[in-house]
Formats: sequence, C-alpha cells, structure tokens
Amino acid sequence: MASYNPKLLNQKYNNWVKGQLAVLFTKEGLEPFVCNEIQQFQLKCLDDICYNNGIFSGTICSSCSTENVVKCPTKGICIVGGGQCSFHRNSKYILAGCPNRICHNFKLGIQKAHRHPCPSYKNTDTTQWCSNSWEVAKCFMPPDGYKDKASATETDFNGIISVILNYKDFQRKVHENLKDETNVFEVARKIGRHLRHSSTLEVEDTDLQEYFQVLQQLLSDSAYLASDTHAQNAKQKLTELENDTLVIGKDDRKKAIDDVVKALQDKIKAGLDEQTDRNKLDAINILNEECNRKRKNLSEYEEELRKRLKTAYKDGKDEEYMNNRKSE
Ligand SMILES: [Zn+2]
Ligand SMILES: [Zn+2]
Repeated sequence: MASYNPKLLNQKYNNWVKGQLAVLFTKEGLEPFVCNEIQQFQLKCLDDICYNNGIFSGTICSSCSTENVVKCPTKGICIVGGGQCSFHRNSKYILAGCPNRICHNFKLGIQKAHRHPCPSYKNTDTTQWCSNSWEVAKCFMPPDGYKDKASATETDFNGIISVILNYKDFQRKVHENLKDETNVFEVARKIGRHLRHSSTLEVEDTDLQEYFQVLQQLLSDSAYLASDTHAQNAKQKLTELENDTLVIGKDDRKKAIDDVVKALQDKIKAGLDEQTDRNKLDAINILNEECNRKRKNLSEYEEELRKRLKTAYKDGKDEEYMNNRKSE
C-alpha cells in the first residue's frame, strides 16, 4: 500500500459514515409516511373487497397461507423440480379461492396497486394481511431479505423506498414523477445501495455532497414531505450532519457498520451472496471478536476494518485474502 495516507483515508471513511447516517436519518424520516399510506391501502382493499362481494363489512381472514393464495407455478417464487414445487411443498394453492372470499381478492388488489407485474409474495405472510399492514407493505419491497422484518423500524432504507416506488398510489402524495427512472427516490435508492455495498467503506468529498443534495431534495418533495414533521426533522439532522454541527457518537458509527453486516447477512440468508460478500463479513466478524477480546477502541477497530477490507477485496483475489488469514 504505497499510497497509504491515514489522514486521507480517515476523511474518506468519515464521509462514508456520514453518508450511511444520512441515509438512516432519511429512512427514519420516511417511516411514518410509508406506514400511514400502506395502512390506508390495507383498509381500502378490505373495504372494497367486502363491498364488491357483498360480504359483511369488517370480515377478515387469517387462515389462508401464502402458498394457498399464490398460484403454482409463479415466476420468481416456485422452483419446480421433479414434478414438485419447492414453494408449494407443504401447502397447495386453493383453486376455489379463500373460504372467506378475502385473501385471493386481496392479492388481486395488491397486484393492481403494484407498479410492476410481480409483487414480492416470497417476503410476506398472507395470514396477516388483514391484521398487520406491514405484511402488505412487504409485497412492494424487493423479493428477498424482508420476511423476518416485523416493522418499518426493522426494515432498511432500500425496503422503505421501494414501497414508495412500487406502490403506484404514492404518486398522489409525491410531486416527483415516480415513473421517471431518474426520479429523486430512485436516485436515493441507488445511493443507499452504493454505500451499503461499498467495498472499501470510503466516499469522496464531491460524492458525499451530491448524496446530501439528493436526500435533502427527496425530503423536500413539495406534495407532502415538505410539510411533514418527521421528514423535516430528518432534513434538519441532515443539515447538521453536513455542517458538522451534529456530534457523531460511537453508537452512530457502530450503526453504520452494523447496517453493512445486516445487509451481508441478509444476502447470505437469501443465497444471493458472492465470495467477496463472505470475505467482507468474515473480515468484520474476525475483527469484532478481536475487538471484544483485546478491548480495542472503536477508532482502532475502524482503522483495522478498512485495512482488512482492502485486503479482502484487493484485486478480487480471494486466495490472497485467505493466505493473509492463515498467517495471522
Ligand atoms: Zn409452486
Ligand atoms: Zn383467506
């Protein structure tokens, strides 16, 4: 590492931490907005189903499983091998429909409300659609990694922002054209992913500036967010973060790293990981252990973490990384 300059490295790493925190604050600012809209969608769906089918208002169902409601085969969910489907192994699709006439109709409602043809049924538990609106929200998130996320708080930025992008009715409360591929929500989603999956945990000054600008713009959307207290509180925090008037505590720095760990664990759980992801998680885990054993302080930990990630990723040579581990 001939060009190793600790001061410069620190600056770039600090930028990364700031970027991660900016995304986390933005997510917190959007949570109530997303929760409310989805809850209203859930209630409207149930009302419409009852009205259109002549069912007594307030009727619910909690007996149909996702397998009962999702047809077989469904693209992206069913893997049929040797005549047997891995998704419908334990429970079959109910051709006759939900006995309470709710769940199959609810699925149609979700499908109609989704911007794309394939809602993420793999994430959701249909038995809770009538009682827990977050299970409905999961249909609008990416297809993997959200099954065990019980609330908006537990859900990451990517999940939250995907609900805004994929649930078409959000357009009523968003000035930005959500169909436009370069709309600010889409750009923010990319920023979030970029930070989380950064191999070196470093961000250039100019990039960070742009991230702040995009997230501030998002939280200022004139249709609703500009006058929403939660969004404006988040925006205020971003301003303080950008101007260095917000003290970044140890817990915040740890949060930034924990978010990366969570993202890696989710990827591995969903079987979507690559070797470099495992290397990265290894590097963090080994260091966590050492940190606990030797009682390293957080800045020592961070310094070491960046060095190890560099090793884990350098030229993409996994072998080199493994040899380094063996010689320790
Ligand atoms: Zn199937
Ligand atoms: Zn049902």
